[in-house]
Amino acid sequence: MSTHFDVIIIGTGAGGGTMARALSQSPARVLVLERGKAVPQEADNWNPDAVWKHLRYRATERWLDAQGIEFLPYTHYGVGGNTKFWGSVLYRLRREDFKALQHRDGVSPAWPIDYDTLAPYYDQAEILYHVHGLSGGDPTEPPRDPFPYAPIPHSPGMTEIVERLRRQGLHPSYLPLGLIRPGEQGGCVLCRTCNSFPCKIHAKSDAEVCGIEPALAAPNVELWTDALAIRIVTDPSGRKAAAVDVQRAGETTRVGASLVVVSCGAVNSAALLLRSASDKHPDGLGNSSGLVGRRYMAHLATMMQGFNPLRHNDTVFQKTVALNDFYFSGPHSKYPLGHIQSQGRTHGVMAQTVVPWVPLWAYDAWVARGVDWLAMSEDLPREDNRVTVDAQGRIQLHYRSNNVDAHHQLVREMTRILHRLGYWKVMTHSHKSKNTTHQCGTLCFGTDPRTSVLDPWCRSHDVENLFVVDASFFPSSAAVNPGLTIIAQALRVADHIKTTNLS
Ligand SMILES: Cc1cc2nc3c(=O)[nH]c(=O)nc-3n(C[C@H](O)[C@H](O)[C@H](O)COP(=O)(O)OP(=O)(O)OC[C@H]3O[C@@H](n4cnc5c(N)ncnc54)[C@H](O)[C@@H]3O)c2cc1C
Ligand code: SF4
Repeated sequence: MSTHFDVIIIGTGAGGGTMARALSQSPARVLVLERGKAVPQEADNWNPDAVWKHLRYRATERWLDAQGIEFLPYTHYGVGGNTKFWGSVLYRLRREDFKALQHRDGVSPAWPIDYDTLAPYYDQAEILYHVHGLSGGDPTEPPRDPFPYAPIPHSPGMTEIVERLRRQGLHPSYLPLGLIRPGEQGGCVLCRTCNSFPCKIHAKSDAEVCGIEPALAAPNVELWTDALAIRIVTDPSGRKAAAVDVQRAGETTRVGASLVVVSCGAVNSAALLLRSASDKHPDGLGNSSGLVGRRYMAHLATMMQGFNPLRHNDTVFQKTVALNDFYFSGPHSKYPLGHIQSQGRTHGVMAQTVVPWVPLWAYDAWVARGVDWLAMSEDLPREDNRVTVDAQGRIQLHYRSNNVDAHHQLVREMTRILHRLGYWKVMTHSHKSKNTTHQCGTLCFGTDPRTSVLDPWCRSHDVENLFVVDASFFPSSAAVNPGLTIIAQALRVADHIKTTNLS
């Protein structure tokens, strides 16, 4: 064994990057492993061709679907993980999301912690990730103090839409957004290439800027990039993680650790535990429940665009409006339908990836007259929806959507709303089962080791010094964006580690 650290964190996304920052304020010697490199700050960051046509920053690895057919997952490997590309919509779950909730297709299970337990960490997370918002306008909002930063104002075009939504009896609210010093010198310039693009000027609240960079300013944290964790090794008892095998520059090194925090994203974390099977853990590390990789969820998501040929859309930064009127029930449904948010502006080249034979000029003319939205519904945990690895260690994703009726109803409601707003045509598009952007749930936390992989502190029930702090721990997916909840739980787990393992 060549080296030993007090803590190894694997992955630098929302969970790992936040954990690194939190543990930088501890005496522990911390190694952070990241399989990718840092995203360079370059002109291509904001170039729709580079990002959408040439997929410059996408992971190149192929996964297999349930039929064994290869596909390119929508995911990114690099410092900051997927947060570099997120739209920075940083929502708290609703208070009810922590409880069992009946949906059209079944029950969304309760979490082992309630909203009040996570609320102080949501407060901290919103400060660390510069969240802008305004409380009071959203009927589903959980109890909270004012946001740490004022909301991003709507453009004149979106202000008009908000007023007309109110006249329809709806309750549009400000989207909570993590942006650094918007409108100020050197801060966020509220451009039209945010969601799905990395920020060229590092003004987006991502896990590199808000997690890894400040962590590396401390003397006790070290980052290895291009460092793929291929296996976690236990001591002979099998009860403790002892080391991580790391592939770096073509060589495999074994690095010792007193504590391991896995945060590779919900799919890769499950895959890493499955690849770490051993005599003591024949079905995968920490898999006495048989649930490692199971209960994969990813939200049902549909991009929607209201189009009116006579209405040019002059908005640059469009992602400021949310609608939660159908979060717990719909006009024609007693079951939850989901959440709606305005999206960043669509670029012609993005639309062209859906139907490539339509010329770009036609798409550009089209999207210039459209307003973009995202409709998102809760995906329920099913044990058959799961991540497995084949004999070569390749990831296979077995996934069949559920709660589909509820999602279709949400899309229909939004279509009606857009028609009432005067849009002639409403276009919709969904990546369906290939949408891995909101992946979660593969290592669910709970109090019972027979029905969960992690305990309420995200510690493995089977391996006492192994924690997982990415989106894997979610017992249910709720219907708002997952990022802030991952960050808040990482902060909570970091506090726990500091007061138990590192004290
Ligand atoms: C285009 C896009 C827009 C999004 N918009 C939003 C949004 O507005 N709001 C929101 O809340 N969420 C959004 N999301 C989702 C959000 O980005 C994810 O939920 C979040 O990043 C998940 O955090 P994580 O820590 O679970 O994993 P990730 O952020 O995926 O980080 C995992 C990290 O682990 C690394 N890694 C993986 N395997 C290994 C290994 N074996 N060894 C070493 N390193 C490894 C990866 O390279 C990566 O850096 C968006 C996602 C995308 C792609
Ligand atoms: S400048 Fe602001 S809006 Fe543009 S990418 Fe950066 S954070 Fe997003």
